[in-house]
Amino acid sequence: MSQANVNSLVQQENAQATEVISELLVQEQIITPDQLKHAGRVRNKLLGQRTMISVLQELQYVTAEEVRNTLRANRLSISLGSLLIELGYLREQELKTALMVQAEQPKKKLGQILLELHLLQEEKLVEVLSIQLGFDRLNPLEFQPTTESFQVASLEWFRKNNCIPLARQNGKILVAFADPLDRQQAEGARRMLGSEIIAGIARLDEIQQALNRMAGSKNRAREINHNESAIVQAVNNLITEAADTFVSDIHLEPAKDLMRVRFRVDGVLVKQKEFPLDMILPLTSRIKIMANADIAERRRHQDGRILFEYRGNPLDIRVSSYGTIYGETIVMRLLNNRNQLLDIRAIGMSPRIVERYVEDVLDAPSGVVIITGPTGSGKTTTLYASVHYLNKPDTSIITAEDPVEYLIDGISQCSINPKINVTFEDTLKHMVRQDPDVMVIGEIRDKFSAEAAISAALTGHKVLTTFHTEDSIGGLMRLMNMNIEAFLISSTVISIVAQRLLRKVCPHCAERQPLTSQQVRRLGYEPREALDLTFKFGRGCSQCKFRGYSGRIGIFELLVLNEPVKDAILAHKTSYEIRRISAKTSGLVTLLEDAICKAANGLTSFDEIIRQVPRLNKPRPLADLYSRLGAV
Ligand SMILES: [Zn+2]
Repeated sequence: MSQANVNSLVQQENAQATEVISELLVQEQIITPDQLKHAGRVRNKLLGQRTMISVLQELQYVTAEEVRNTLRANRLSISLGSLLIELGYLREQELKTALMVQAEQPKKKLGQILLELHLLQEEKLVEVLSIQLGFDRLNPLEFQPTTESFQVASLEWFRKNNCIPLARQNGKILVAFADPLDRQQAEGARRMLGSEIIAGIARLDEIQQALNRMAGSKNRAREINHNESAIVQAVNNLITEAADTFVSDIHLEPAKDLMRVRFRVDGVLVKQKEFPLDMILPLTSRIKIMANADIAERRRHQDGRILFEYRGNPLDIRVSSYGTIYGETIVMRLLNNRNQLLDIRAIGMSPRIVERYVEDVLDAPSGVVIITGPTGSGKTTTLYASVHYLNKPDTSIITAEDPVEYLIDGISQCSINPKINVTFEDTLKHMVRQDPDVMVIGEIRDKFSAEAAISAALTGHKVLTTFHTEDSIGGLMRLMNMNIEAFLISSTVISIVAQRLLRKVCPHCAERQPLTSQQVRRLGYEPREALDLTFKFGRGCSQCKFRGYSGRIGIFELLVLNEPVKDAILAHKTSYEIRRISAKTSGLVTLLEDAICKAANGLTSFDEIIRQVPRLNKPRPLADLYSRLGAV
């Protein structure tokens, strides 16, 4: 194409464009015919080449925005070059230059040549193409990356074909193309996405950038999913491992550079494993999510509950988080870990003791039964075993617990929850109105709950409850110190059971060892009183993971209030006196005495007794104890 040809072509096309656009603006009532005539006269008088649109804008008959919108809405047969000139993005001379270049490279598109010659910014080209071709101008970077479309089509294909799916619109997929007129690409995209498409136009660099971002987020999503499932798995494994090995508590403790995990096994904390520093937050967050706690709150202490599916059975876990300087310490208590309620005869009471407990205490028609001991002494197990014994079809049992630790069929259990206004006080008031035979009050914690228990017993109910004291007489004394009338105590409390859980010597590595005279004295005996006393200890073996212990055994002190003991209470005798009277007249065997008998039978060790058992009174000789306890 010669220079002259180009000149005439451009002039011809421009004249045509001016005419078409002018007509369109009038037709669309953007301007009036009079305005158009006026603009035409002004344009002719102006020196130099001015486009009709620029004159209309100068006369303030139209805005650039109105022109673009009108043009885009009406696909016109205007050449790209003329449109660029009309819109003021290109000068006539520049277009002529580009057309000369195109004459030499006829396969190249005009737009591309304009970009290569730096005569036009890509942004402007895309805008004008969108107007010329009637495609929406899309910015792929303004769309939320969606991975949905890429599940069916490969990112690579879109990269090669310079297009990107952006969103779903009325059942079709909106796709941005660098060249929406490329039929092959449009058809390819339709097949790839398996859906009708709405084509739009976007800059090539925007499309590629958005595809890169998509690839990144796809990888990140995969990475996050991977990490998340690793965390979920780590927590699940930890709980399963703990439940498998009869662990009662899992402690997760963040330190300066790692997260330490310890298991409480048989009452003793044992180091289990460590997690790297970067897992602290995901691990604690995961556990808090499971426990329905607020994961954003990391400084306030929180608690919650997890119902974990453990080998097909529900495992109830109580979770408490405690904000420390290194992060949150989390303790998970596995509540009904062994998953079955113990028979009252299988909790470790000596034969004579369990007979008395069943006949004189549980079978009594009414009265208060208190199970006492420090945290972790096994009193909850005894409480539930007692409830289990009393749970018969003709008996109505109701509980107020904080929280419910075991679920028992056939009884009405209530978890105290001040958060939803289920307070202890309110629950105790309502319990009696439910006409129960047996009331279980989770714990006596103040005068109010003590009085609630006593007044229920006075009206003929049986009340089971727990108390946090050292031994049975201590429980009695504490009730008396709560300013509860002595006669109310003596007439309602039928029994106080004190207990501890001692570690059991591992049977696989147990060795019998005579006690030294010093050890004998520490138990409260004179050496000559315990000449042949031998206990067992565990050397440690693979069966007990070299701890020398395996499992635990309960030791019990059963106080049944008989007439002499009641008289002693009414007479406000000292604890020493009451203990002496109980031992003499009620068949009381102390915690220490029960422990010595069990140790003599090789069940627990000297160290466990010293560690856990109060030594308040001198123990009676072993032979004497055997007759009181029955064969252990
Ligand atoms: Zn062992």
